[in-house]
Amino acid sequence: MDMKYVQTTCPYCGTGCSLNLVVKDGKVVDTAPYHRSPVNEGKLCPKGTYAHEFVNREDRLTTPLIKKDGKFVEATWEEANALIAKKFKSYTPDECAVLSSARTSNEDNYALMKFARGAIKTRHIDHCARLCHASTVAGLAASFGSGAMTNSILDIAESKCVFIIGSNTFEQHPLIGRKVMQAKKAGAKIIYVDPRLTATGKQADLFMQFKSGSDVAVLNCIMGEIIRNGWEDKDWVQNRAKGYDELKATVLQDAYLPENVETLSGIPADKLRTAAEWIGTAESCALLYSMGITQHTCGVDNVKSTANLQMLTGNIGRRGGGVNALRGQNNVQGACDMGALPVVFTAYQKVIDPVAHKKFEDAWAFPDGIAAAQNGYEVTVMMDVLTDNPGELKAMYIMGENPFLSDPDIHHVEHAFENLEFVVVQDIFLTETAQHADVVLPATCYAEKDGTQTSTERRVQMWRTAQAPPGQAKLDWKIIADVAAAMGYADQFAWETSEDVFNEMASLTPSYAGMTYERLNKPEALHWPCPTKEHPGTPVLHIDKCSHPDGMGVMHAIEWKPPAEVPDEEYPFILTTGRCIWHWHTGSMTRRSSTLANEVKTGWIEINPEDAAALGIKDKEMIKAISRRGEVEVPAKVTPDIMKGVMFMPFHFAECAANFLTNNALDPIAKIPEYKACSVKVEKI
Ligand code: SF4
Repeated sequence: MDMKYVQTTCPYCGTGCSLNLVVKDGKVVDTAPYHRSPVNEGKLCPKGTYAHEFVNREDRLTTPLIKKDGKFVEATWEEANALIAKKFKSYTPDECAVLSSARTSNEDNYALMKFARGAIKTRHIDHCARLCHASTVAGLAASFGSGAMTNSILDIAESKCVFIIGSNTFEQHPLIGRKVMQAKKAGAKIIYVDPRLTATGKQADLFMQFKSGSDVAVLNCIMGEIIRNGWEDKDWVQNRAKGYDELKATVLQDAYLPENVETLSGIPADKLRTAAEWIGTAESCALLYSMGITQHTCGVDNVKSTANLQMLTGNIGRRGGGVNALRGQNNVQGACDMGALPVVFTAYQKVIDPVAHKKFEDAWAFPDGIAAAQNGYEVTVMMDVLTDNPGELKAMYIMGENPFLSDPDIHHVEHAFENLEFVVVQDIFLTETAQHADVVLPATCYAEKDGTQTSTERRVQMWRTAQAPPGQAKLDWKIIADVAAAMGYADQFAWETSEDVFNEMASLTPSYAGMTYERLNKPEALHWPCPTKEHPGTPVLHIDKCSHPDGMGVMHAIEWKPPAEVPDEEYPFILTTGRCIWHWHTGSMTRRSSTLANEVKTGWIEINPEDAAALGIKDKEMIKAISRRGEVEVPAKVTPDIMKGVMFMPFHFAECAANFLTNNALDPIAKIPEYKACSVKVEKI
């Protein structure tokens, strides 16, 4: 018997835990601890512990499929590539759109970005960061000049106060939750703001339950109290930030006095005052947030407000401080860094910047040029264009995304896809979206590839090949390179290894320029920016100055605005959505992992006991949840952990998909949808 351990990185959340895959006779059969990672120190959450279980599932895609007469038939790679090349060459670039993936490697994302802009020549490329942290990229870039988590995961354990708002850290990023507990054990106060008393809230010293959508009011209130009490960091606001006077005038308005914000948010005024005191007087305070902050029509405003608070208290550029935006998928940071966005090349080099455009055009050397130097459509806008202006977009190439379950208002997505003439999906399983494709291409999972991913803390880590891919499945970047070759661009995609792809990318990407596979093959890896081969990486950003050209942080005066849809007589409850510790996103991998699937078999809707009693609903009873966009039948979970007037559904489950109900109203800047607040009613069946 041949047995070995292959050290790699967990494919699920953005924490980036290291683990060993146990390989027996050439097949992945188990996971085992890898103790040298400073992030997870050998520990794993349930998802990481069972990260081997989906790898060798019998329903892995193993051969290309082409739909004929409504049914998939097996095809050769040559047939599939020739069809894709012919179809994409038959459309104009602006009729084509590309969705990249936060689940795949940096190399795969770079390859697809180059394929979109160089081979198809479309400017319409995006990925699911649009749905989770687009407001982080826009909001933090406006505040600091860099749209990423400012501090490192290790830093959190050093903090003297941890302020968590809109993140169920202990379930969604459990090994970051462990750092929070390490800080607590060392004496830090933990403050938690959320509509639900989650596992995270149960460990907090101060739990502030609030109505989803009142974040700006709460943050302005806390800042007002800090200023009234003289707890602001005067040196920071005078010497490192612009916009303090306007911010001060805004947060000191009567509307943001604790008693008034109590009425708006539901948080008792004395708790708001306590939070302000703990944050304002702590030696350091780490602010952690996730999609509770970002997934709103005011998502960018929410993010800027977190940045305001951390600048006001001098917690930017400070160990144990920072705005710690916790990314949901393993490589959502990397997919953004790789330019899988409609406005930038790698490292946020703007496509409309003639210098950046020429740099990539010259380096790639496509004989017929690259996509125009114009911004493209965001994925949410693509769906609107497809429904509102049929015929403008005709073809879509999708790598590892599942909009039929992940996007808001699924009926809207269904309608959008009806107006597409040609859809290609490359994935490892026949997902809900792959079932709607014309061509399906079998890809490799994390256990079958060398490559890199960039975790939420900007740390670039390695995936390592543990087993051969099943059947004819191929590396994602290799699939893309072969399609590009069929389109006549073999020379531009002539990579032989993942390392070749990485090196080309790094040569065009200042923040990755000092990274090599040799340097990344160390447990601590490297945080970007890492501009030279000698540079040690940057765990904490903005220590001496922010990334804006003048080095200053920018404070923004922000007024609270209500969500796009608020409860009324017909739809009297706020619905918010999220995840659970056992499952991940659309469940395509975790629901195929038998241990995880058995633990939580289906979805639910959380209802406060008072609301349930008024409606005559019992725990576990099947009920109907209805919004203006759709309805689903789902089991009720009657629990005091959810606030009265608010309901919660996880979005992993196709049979009771929360996103049939959610609102696709968008933040005007980030174009992120408002998953975290829509209006619903519930009925007994
Ligand atoms: Fe994987 Fe995230 Fe769990 Fe770590 S915390 S084991 S990265 S899912």
